Amino acid sequence: MEKIENYTLNEAIEFLKESVDALLIVDSNADRFKVLSKRGMFVDFIGDSGVYQELIEKLWFHLGDSMDKISEDYQVFIPTFGKYSGKYSRRLKLVENDVPHAVQMTIYPIDENNYLLLLDELDNSEYMKDFLTNEKVTTIQNTYLFSMYVDLFKDSTSSISITEISDETVHAAIKYSEWRHMIVNMIWPDDQELFMERTDPEYLKKNIMPGRTASFDCLMQNLEGKYIWVKLIFSRAETNNSEEDFRYVFMVQDIHENSVQLMSTLKKYEELASKDALTDVFNHGRIETELYNAIEIVSRTDRKVSIIMFDIDFFKNVNDKYGHAVGDMTLKHFAFMLNDYFKTANAVIGRWGGEEFVAVCYDADIKKAFEYAEEIRIKVSKEDYKVVGHVTCCAGVAEITKKDDFQKAFDRMDKAMYQAKSEGRNCVR
Ligand code: GH3
Ligand code: MG
Ligand code: MG
Repeated sequence: MEKIENYTLNEAIEFLKESVDALLIVDSNADRFKVLSKRGMFVDFIGDSGVYQELIEKLWFHLGDSMDKISEDYQVFIPTFGKYSGKYSRRLKLVENDVPHAVQMTIYPIDENNYLLLLDELDNSEYMKDFLTNEKVTTIQNTYLFSMYVDLFKDSTSSISITEISDETVHAAIKYSEWRHMIVNMIWPDDQELFMERTDPEYLKKNIMPGRTASFDCLMQNLEGKYIWVKLIFSRAETNNSEEDFRYVFMVQDIHENSVQLMSTLKKYEELASKDALTDVFNHGRIETELYNAIEIVSRTDRKVSIIMFDIDFFKNVNDKYGHAVGDMTLKHFAFMLNDYFKTANAVIGRWGGEEFVAVCYDADIKKAFEYAEEIRIKVSKEDYKVVGHVTCCAGVAEITKKDDFQKAFDRMDKAMYQAKSEGRNCVR
């Protein structure tokens, strides 16, 4: 080990060259860079020289875990109006073949136009540990299916990959305008119009400001030909020249699992909101809507729709004799029988209120509906109910006609019910 007194500046510079992973000189006027030295992961990642802006773009899209933060980090490495004004340093995350690296990126201006760019991988284990446990990285790798650069000014696309670092950023010859018309065929037919609208160059230019991100969800075919829910994301580059600079990153994110889960949750809530809590058949509001819909259908089509009201006979006595809890249990049992019976028919059943239930029977004329009601009446009277033994019910049947409004149709059904009650109960009218 040498004493520090013996070291010279030149030796120190030599050591530095050995230690810094990449040292580049940049001409911001010409937008060119030249590599002075490189080692480690940067040997393959950066060429010996090239267009500076392209290098930064390439780095940008391989960095970090959040677009927002990246664009800010990226911004400082782009010269302002072709000039570089000061020293900058940023600690960035760079993912190479799924392995995260912490990289310090530093700018040292030499003069107005030229500067040194240092890229240095850090051996900071605490920082890496922190980074490795960051779930977002895995999320990005797992959920971002595809990404590419889009330049609307040049009408060009070029592919990028979030998870792999490859030396050649493939400059595919395909024009953005052509790409759109190809990709649209992978979109679910109903979503194609939306896709064309939201990927329209004029739409993107007008609606996404520099540094901003916009997205929309649609169904898209994956490589196995299965349609999955995806989020299509356009993120516009920060720029100092918003008049002509229309560079975007386009990404496809797999949101299928979450979307399916969300939709099933919403469906559950929708069901809850339309179900009667005690009997689990549709509630008053939901069956009333069904009645209105049925009237609408009859008025504009040739379909036959009939409606039936069921009412338990002397139900008040059940409550009086056995108590409200037993009454509830009997109601549940009765509703279950109705529901079970109508499962096989094209019909919907709901609780109108108390011990009254309404069925809307599609493709059933009065004769058919009467048969349904009669069959149920007999079933109900034969059923053995816990505690109370036997109960009977009445049913009023009406067929909806083209002249009906809600009130007219409902009144006919209600009248038939009243008739059944007054003619001795346990019958259908
Ligand atoms: P009818 O043969 O004329 O239909 O006689 P009924 O006793 O069935 O008719 P009424 O309309 O006089 O009484 C209905 C009873 O239903 C009154 C009420 O105590 C009972 N009821 C209404 N809703 C509920 C409920 O949610 N639970 C219980 N246990 N009873 C209910
Ligand atoms: Mg009753
Ligand atoms: Mg009643």
